Formats: sequence, structure tokens, C-alpha cells
Amino acid sequence: MSGPAEEPRAAPRCPFCGSREGEVISLFGTQAITLQYRCHGCGSYYEALKYAAGEAASSDAPPPRSGA
Ligand SMILES: [Zn+2]
Repeated sequence: MSGPAEEPRAAPRCPFCGSREGEVISLFGTQAITLQYRCHGCGSYYEALKYAAGEAASSDAPPPRSGA
């Protein structure tokens, strides 16, 4: 299955309680490559990378373009 490119594959686990019931509250966290989530389990806010760490870490390749 392939969803929209702007959406993360799945909600990451909450680092506080481990719940996956997270809701995206902002498309940009403290960094452009992070999303802000709010956990439905414990109500904590946390950030997670939009893409897999391996993809985001490869500085040799240009960043993926969205829209085009
Ligand atoms: Zn939580």
C-alpha cells in the first residue's frame, strides 16, 4: 500500500507510554523533518521524523521533493 507522500507511514510509538494512538498536530516540529504528535494515551506531545532515519540521514542524495 502507498499513501500520500506527505503522510508518515504510521504513527510512531509514544516515547512516554508506548501507545501508537498518536495524532499529528503539526507538520513541522523543531526541525523541518519532524512532525509533532499528541498522544491519545497519555496526552503527551512528542516529535518524530517524517521519514525513516536511513532516508533522512543520507546527505549524499538530494531531499525528496513533494508536490512535483
Ligand atoms: Zn503516550
